Amino acid sequence: MNICGLGVSGSYLFRRLTDLGFTVNAYDVKRPDYYIPCGYATNERKIEEYCKLAGMNFDDYVISRADDVIVAGDNFAEHTFKSLGLCTFDKNRFEHDMIKDLKIMKSMPNYSNGVSLDCSGISRALLGQSSDDYSMGAIEYLTDNAHHKSFYFNFYSKARGYFWEFPMGDRYHVGAGGLDQVENLRRIDSYHKILVTGRRIRLKPLFENMSKENILGIGEAIGCVSPITGEGIVPSLKSAELFIECAKTYDDIPMLFEKYGEKIRKEFGRYYGLHLLVKNLQEGKTMTINNIRFARTAMKEFREFGVNITAQAVLSHFIKPKRKK
Ligand SMILES: Cc1cc2nc3c(=O)[nH]c(=O)nc-3n(C[C@H](O)[C@H](O)[C@H](O)COP(=O)(O)OP(=O)(O)OC[C@H]3O[C@@H](n4cnc5c(N)ncnc54)[C@H](O)[C@@H]3O)c2cc1C
Repeated sequence: MNICGLGVSGSYLFRRLTDLGFTVNAYDVKRPDYYIPCGYATNERKIEEYCKLAGMNFDDYVISRADDVIVAGDNFAEHTFKSLGLCTFDKNRFEHDMIKDLKIMKSMPNYSNGVSLDCSGISRALLGQSSDDYSMGAIEYLTDNAHHKSFYFNFYSKARGYFWEFPMGDRYHVGAGGLDQVENLRRIDSYHKILVTGRRIRLKPLFENMSKENILGIGEAIGCVSPITGEGIVPSLKSAELFIECAKTYDDIPMLFEKYGEKIRKEFGRYYGLHLLVKNLQEGKTMTINNIRFARTAMKEFREFGVNITAQAVLSHFIKPKRKK
């Protein structure tokens, strides 16, 4: 088996598949000192399951745990919610340690041999671009000052993106992801920059385009990122684990791909509704029956990420925003 891309899903697959006895060639284009563009926020109650399977102790990587989480927006006042496990962790060291004893290839393997897993995230290096793709630009600073000491989310009006401050020990990740890169920059420009990073983030499921010949997509490559919260770490690990479940059972490639596809659609099918909710809100279609239905799913997404948001808050914040005074 070949793995293209050693981010969170590729590293996890490299570890788990090797431990299960598969022969794996893995390759990544990144430099050794690459600082991963990501908020590094996750739900420790969810990621622990995958850490155990990969022989990792997540506690060793936690940087800051959330107590309260502040959610605000252009059209609504700040609300404070309890954390359900939200934290930041050392994602660079985590990905490195997961595979530190394994041999990474120095050049590209022959991806036409056997099954090749496209774990290249936004790039879709093996699968190629999908005409129905949807992503937003994001920029992030590592900084030593922030306006909030807690985890902080601030949503732009009309679901055009959001801005965040996540504590990282005595530093912070401050970032902005949205449709307009000038606006993203404006939101974070006043912060002191220790390090600047960024990339586009895929916010739409591409489950109709998840395989091609002997190639199968995992993680963000196929849109396993919550369209509403931008959470992609645990969903990518989940998609990798779903592949492993299938790889243990099916040798035949078409059957393996089909069963994986079924599991992905079952697990992440809600992302279609959430993507539609975002599009509706961007187009000013707020009070639709579908939106109210998807609002429930949106609330669950926040809880998955580790924010104990209420249904009432989701409805008043996203579906029926109050006007600014
Ligand atoms: C600014 C930003 C902030 C985010 N914040 C959060 C957050 O706080 N919490 C959260 O849960 N999610 C967050 N996400 C989303 C999350 O980071 C990703 O969805 C998740 O890391 C995707 O994992 P992956 O393994 O699919 O891809 P990635 O982790 O993106 O890994 C892809 C890998 O493929 C490699 N690659 C690319 N092209 C090639 C090639 N041609 N050949 C070989 N290798 C290649 C890359 O170098 C990279 O290592 C954020 C995303 C962005 C952009």
